[in-house]
Amino acid sequence: MTSRIEIDGKRLLQRLDDFARIGATPAGGVNRQALSAEDRASRRLLAERALARGFRVFQDPMANLFIRREGRFPEKPPFVIGSHLDSQPTGGRFDGALGTLSAFEVMESLEDAGIETDLPIEVVAWTNEEGSRFQPGTMGSMAFAAATIPDAWSDLRGRDGARFVEELKATLHALPEAEMRPLGVPISGYIELHIEQGPSLERENIPIGIVHGIQGTRWLEVTITGQAAHAGTTALEFRRDPMAAAVAALEPLYKGTMLNDPRARFTVGRFAVEPGSVNAIPGSVTFTVDLRHPEATVIDALENQIRRACDKAAAAAGCRSELRQIFDMPPAAFSEDLLAGLDRAAASLGLKTKRMLSGAFHDALFVSRVAPAAMIFVPCRDGLSHNEAEYVEPEHSVTGARMLLAATMEAIVLSA
Ligand SMILES: [Zn+2]
Repeated sequence: MTSRIEIDGKRLLQRLDDFARIGATPAGGVNRQALSAEDRASRRLLAERALARGFRVFQDPMANLFIRREGRFPEKPPFVIGSHLDSQPTGGRFDGALGTLSAFEVMESLEDAGIETDLPIEVVAWTNEEGSRFQPGTMGSMAFAAATIPDAWSDLRGRDGARFVEELKATLHALPEAEMRPLGVPISGYIELHIEQGPSLERENIPIGIVHGIQGTRWLEVTITGQAAHAGTTALEFRRDPMAAAVAALEPLYKGTMLNDPRARFTVGRFAVEPGSVNAIPGSVTFTVDLRHPEATVIDALENQIRRACDKAAAAAGCRSELRQIFDMPPAAFSEDLLAGLDRAAASLGLKTKRMLSGAFHDALFVSRVAPAAMIFVPCRDGLSHNEAEYVEPEHSVTGARMLLAATMEAIVLSA
């Protein structure tokens, strides 16, 4: 069935250029942060193009934007494809936009070919994937999966001081043409195309990555408390130095964690020393640990190992250690059925693929909690992303969209 339909590569590339103009930065990237005027302009452009083609446009209370092409059985839950349109402040023009606009291209290609599908198809642009202006990221898909907006977000402010609830309201009002629908409507499945944001596909010269899951992430905060004292007069036996304890705890963790398990990621990215004076033994040190792994049980084991190492080193230095979790995103495993469909789609197009795990979060992580989900990656130059120099070869963008079309047709047959 897929061989009769082709995407219009020229139209896709033109559309990528059109959207890259919204919030364009002098260095060739985009600044289209969530719920900003630029974000609203990009949502408007997509909605206008959709309405011009006779598709229906919806938004939910999180301003997730849905474009719908009706199916033979309109009462069945739609199959959803898409990504996000918001960007980092100095973001690239492909992160998010490629997946959203490729999904729209798939929908237009079906329309051009006059193909009637059993299931309705919807293109989605999730709100605030990036989390640069308002934190956390992936707010739109997170609220969609939970079918509710967390209370904690009602007081949320952006890095620019803007109130989240007001910006959300203004964004919803800026698109009165969109019909309102509740959060978390049932869907049959979800496929997201995205740039890899890493170098492996380019290095191995593989055009398509079939993403089987997203690794889990846990953030810990460790505080080791000792006693502040004079750096010059305090002899070793009188010191209760939390820095000495932190160094002793971290050294074996740095040496062992990633070496013993190449799939593990261990990063200490923030370190605060109190009182932070050049000639004082610190009273306390606080550091964060970013832990990542594809298996939740391993993340638990690593956390225990870190806790033991900190307790032991703190006790040896006459200090005490406290560890708390500040963020936890369990790993996601994507749908085996959808992945098998992706394999068949790639084979039908004669494309070389590689199964891979995503190191970064994506909206598909949350969507996979409520429906079968999977992702497709395409290579980006030097693996560079969240950077204005981010670049995807036109050929790779077009191949990604062709793959998305073939995968969607395979998936719809499965879900119908
Ligand atoms: Zn993205």
